[in-house]
Amino acid sequence: QGRLQGKTVLITAAAQGIGRASALACAIEGAHVIATDIDAQYLATLAREHSGIRVAQLDVRNGDAVMALAGELPALDVLFNCAGMVANGSLLDCSEADWDLSFDLNVKSMFRMTRAFLPGMLAKAGADGSASIINMASMASSIKGFANRCAYGATKAAVIGLTKSLAADYVKAGLRANALCPGTVDTPSLRGRIASAADPVQAQKDFVARQPMGRLASVDDITPMVVYLASDESRFVTGQTLLVDGGVTI
Ligand code: NAD
Repeated sequence: QGRLQGKTVLITAAAQGIGRASALACAIEGAHVIATDIDAQYLATLAREHSGIRVAQLDVRNGDAVMALAGELPALDVLFNCAGMVANGSLLDCSEADWDLSFDLNVKSMFRMTRAFLPGMLAKAGADGSASIINMASMASSIKGFANRCAYGATKAAVIGLTKSLAADYVKAGLRANALCPGTVDTPSLRGRIASAADPVQAQKDFVARQPMGRLASVDDITPMVVYLASDESRFVTGQTLLVDGGVTI
């Protein structure tokens, strides 16, 4: 405990799944966490779980709302851009609307958030790399191709490119940027993808089968990497893709 003492950490899509677990893990390590999500109801239940967490409703697709929140909050030490969605399907299944929504929510939201919060982070950062941006990518990206992840894989590859460019631009300014690349994680949205498959039992088996360790990740398999990247323990790590994939990319 105490690895993030004194740090202000903002997380997007923090009401459920990896974002929620990360908010709790960071608060337990002493951070002052600002947990944001479009879903105010689930956020409210999170606020009751730890006194180090304050919540704010935020739609990361709304640029004005993002700028307004940045104007209200103190400067951040850590920004975890976690929001993202899966549009299932191959290229021929993918409509322009799916493609545009995927890029808006998975990539442009990070541009919006970073543009709004970066000036404060740079002003606060010491030259020692204490400011950290964590962008949620995936093993399904430029790292590895998966069936039926056309728009998703393209967006997550873009996240890696965005992250590396940030790392290059601000490496001398005390700001680090890294991309987190999980394997398949058991979260509400994954449950939804399994439930909406033509054969949910087979879909569950297929997700497990592609994991060499023979199981899905739990959110608690992912949060230690979030805490590490948020903390000063990772002060010499920037521009990297951190895979937490249970061996899929061995
Ligand atoms: P989830 O899909 O279970 O929850 C997503 C959260 O995002 C919800 O609380 C939802 O309300 C919120 N959200 C949706 N639209 C929003 C918007 N416009 N603004 C703000 N919040 C919004 O979460 P998850 O499965 O943990 O996924 C989180 C991130 O991790 C995503 O970027 C996803 O691509 C990535 N990821 C997930 C997995 C996985 O297997 N679950 C694997 C690799 C990467």
